Amino acid sequence: MIRYGQQDINQADIEAVIAVLKSVNLTQGPNIPRFQQCVIAHTGAKHAVAVNSATSALHIACLSLGLGPGDWLWTSPNTFVASANCGLYCGAKVDFVDIDPRTYNLCPKALEIKLNEAEKAGKLPKIVVPVHLSGQPCDMEAIHALSLRYGFKIIEDASHAIGGMYKGEPIGNGRYSDITVFSFHPVKIITTAEGGMALTNSDELATKLGLFHSHGITRDPALMTRPMEGPWYYQQVDLGYNYRMTDIQAALGVSQISRLNHYVARRHEIAARYNELLADLPLVLPWQHPDSYSAFHLYVIRLKLNEISRSHLQVFEALRAKDIMVNLHYIPVHTQPFYQKMGFKHGDYPEAERYYREAISIPMYPTLTNAEQDEVVNALREAMGL
Ligand SMILES: *Cc1c(COP(=O)(O)O)cnc(C)c1O
Repeated sequence: MIRYGQQDINQADIEAVIAVLKSVNLTQGPNIPRFQQCVIAHTGAKHAVAVNSATSALHIACLSLGLGPGDWLWTSPNTFVASANCGLYCGAKVDFVDIDPRTYNLCPKALEIKLNEAEKAGKLPKIVVPVHLSGQPCDMEAIHALSLRYGFKIIEDASHAIGGMYKGEPIGNGRYSDITVFSFHPVKIITTAEGGMALTNSDELATKLGLFHSHGITRDPALMTRPMEGPWYYQQVDLGYNYRMTDIQAALGVSQISRLNHYVARRHEIAARYNELLADLPLVLPWQHPDSYSAFHLYVIRLKLNEISRSHLQVFEALRAKDIMVNLHYIPVHTQPFYQKMGFKHGDYPEAERYYREAISIPMYPTLTNAEQDEVVNALREAMGL
C-alpha cells in the first residue's frame, strides 16, 4: 500500500522520545522551549508557542486577536474545516473567499471585491485566515496590503507549509501577518504525533498566546494584579484552555526539525519527477508561483475530465483498488452540512467547487521511492483509461 502522505521516524527520533520517558518531566520539560527555539531559528519569528495541535493554535490565535461574538472571520473554502471552525469557537461568524484557479489558494482579487462590498454593508472581517495549500504560500503581499486598507488582522494557516518560502524568506517569519500557525500532525512536513505552534513577532500577542494555551494562568509577577503571595503562587487572569504540548512530543519535534530542509528538498525532487512523468497526460499539474518555494506537503493533480472517458470517482476508486491511497484536499468547507445549516449553498464558491470535482492528491512524502512513484504513475495512467 502506498499512502498519500506518511511520517518518517528514525532511530534518533525514537531515542529522543525514550530519553524523555526516562526523565522526570513528561509534560513541561526542557524540550518545549528547545523546540520553540528551533522553529524560531528556522523561521526568524520572534516568539513561538508550542501547543497540542494546529487547531488549538488557530483557536488561541483568534482569541489573542480579540475575535468574539459579532465579529467575522474569513478564510478559504478549500481547506481543512479547522481553519474556519476556529472562528466559530470564539462565537464569531465565518465567511469564505473563493480560490485562485492556478494556486488553489485564497484569491486576493476575490478578497478585494468582497471587502469592498462588506465595507458598504458594515460587515468587514476582523480576521482573514489565508491557507497555504500544499505548502505553496498565498499572495501575502496583496493580502497584507488589503489588511492595511480595510483594517483586518491576518492569521496564516501554514499547517502545510513549514520549510516553504515566500519571496525568498521562510514562511512563519510574520512579515505579512500577525500570527502564523503550523501543524505537526503525522501527514504534515514534520511531526510530533499531534502538535502545532503559533508564531508571532508581537510581544503582546505572544503573552496572550501563552496565557490562552494554559488556562489563562500566569506565574509572571508582571502580569499579576497583586503581589505574589508565596512561591506556590500563580494567578488566572483570563479564561484559557489546556492546549499544552508534552515534552515527549517536543523532543520528537526537535529531532524531526533537524531534517526539515532535507525533507522539503526531497519533496521538490519528487515533484520534479512527477512533473516529468505526468507531463503528457491530460492533467493539470501543480502550478508554482515564481514568488514561492512550496513545502510540497501535497502533490495535487487535476483531471481534464473532457479529455478522458473516466469520471473523477472512477479514477479515484481505480487507484484505491490498486492500493494507492490517494486522497482529496479538500471538500469545500461551505458544502459541509454543518456549514450549510448556516446558509451556505453549493454554488457559492465556484472555483473551489470546480477544483473539488477534478482534484486528487497523489502520494507525496520524503521516503517515497522512485519505484513506488513509477507504480503510482502507471496506475494513474491505467485508471484514467489511457
Ligand atoms: C492539518 C490541518 C489543520 C489542523 O491541524 P491539526 O494539527 O490536526 O489540528 C488545520 N488547517 C489545515 C490547512 C490543515 O491541513
